[in-house]
Amino acid sequence: MPRAEVRRIELRELTTLKVGGPAELWEVDEVDALTEATAEPYRVIGAGSNLLVSDAGVPERVIRLGRSFNDIASFRGERELWLGAATPLPGLVRRAQRLGLSGLEGLLGVPAVLGGAVAMNAGTRFGEMSDTLQEVEVFVNGALERLRADALELAYRHARLPDGAVLVRARLRLAASDPERVQQRMDVVDAARKGQPKVKSAGCAFKNPPGDSAGRIIDAAGLKGLRVGDAMVALEHGNFIVNLGHATARDVCQLLQRIRERTSVPLELEWRRWGFEGEAA
Ligand SMILES: Cc1cc2nc3c(=O)[nH]c(=O)nc-3n(C[C@H](O)[C@H](O)[C@H](O)COP(=O)(O)OP(=O)(O)OC[C@H]3O[C@@H](n4cnc5c(N)ncnc54)[C@H](O)[C@@H]3O)c2cc1C
Repeated sequence: MPRAEVRRIELRELTTLKVGGPAELWEVDEVDALTEATAEPYRVIGAGSNLLVSDAGVPERVIRLGRSFNDIASFRGERELWLGAATPLPGLVRRAQRLGLSGLEGLLGVPAVLGGAVAMNAGTRFGEMSDTLQEVEVFVNGALERLRADALELAYRHARLPDGAVLVRARLRLAASDPERVQQRMDVVDAARKGQPKVKSAGCAFKNPPGDSAGRIIDAAGLKGLRVGDAMVALEHGNFIVNLGHATARDVCQLLQRIRERTSVPLELEWRRWGFEGEAA
């Protein structure tokens, strides 16, 4: 019977914000092992770059797809290709550039794996996952199923996957270009990201309200540098909350609350919250 590797971990080890308590990690390296892994309540983690996890951790199993779902090495320049959900996005963006393929440049600097990038429809104003995504393969109710991208209702930081679906692979379609032109577009994206903090964070905490930017709103309220414990509103970018060292989820939640109390517009969290009452799914 195909097995998953199971161990207790602290979720702060697997999140970019470096916050989050204990859980049972199920590292799965073949699709068949998902049958056993999904037999009890579970969650799926990608690169942990959009997660705020409670200090108490989560009672559910946390499934992570292992190396055999990372297809970066087999990407040799096809315009249309299936890639495993654990393929790292930064490597994919760079490799597409070297191969002269366009479509992923707008995702430069997003520290996700492909599964998490599709689940969030990650992107920037220069482009998002939905630009190239054609189809996904998900493991749901004990079987693999294929869904066309248009069934996922992809929108700003949103994809509608079936309840409990583990995204296993995604089919992307890239456009032929040449490495230099792709690089030029990446340089533009890179320049726009220059002001973002380099320390531990989970990217933008809040979604941008229609026609405005959460960073601008937080900045206008004079909240850059606001701090609870080791959690701080970044000095460089109002929508980034950084962990200066030993921030807890409790610190981060208090800081989010203070931001909400002191901003004029209701701000919706972009992060997924794990292990909290009434968490955003
Ligand atoms: C420095 C920094 C910069 C960032 N910049 C951007 C940016 O420019 N644009 C942007 O959109 N985001 C940005 N982010 C946020 C983050 O990278 C994205 O939201 C990304 O899509 C999350 O991917 P992940 O693999 O880390 O997923 P995780 O954070 O691990 O998970 C996010 C959600 O996806 C689900 N999920 C993950 N994998 C699977 C799977 N295989 N099957 C089913 N569900 C799954 C999880 O259950 C969870 O609900 C940034 C983050 C950081 C730290």
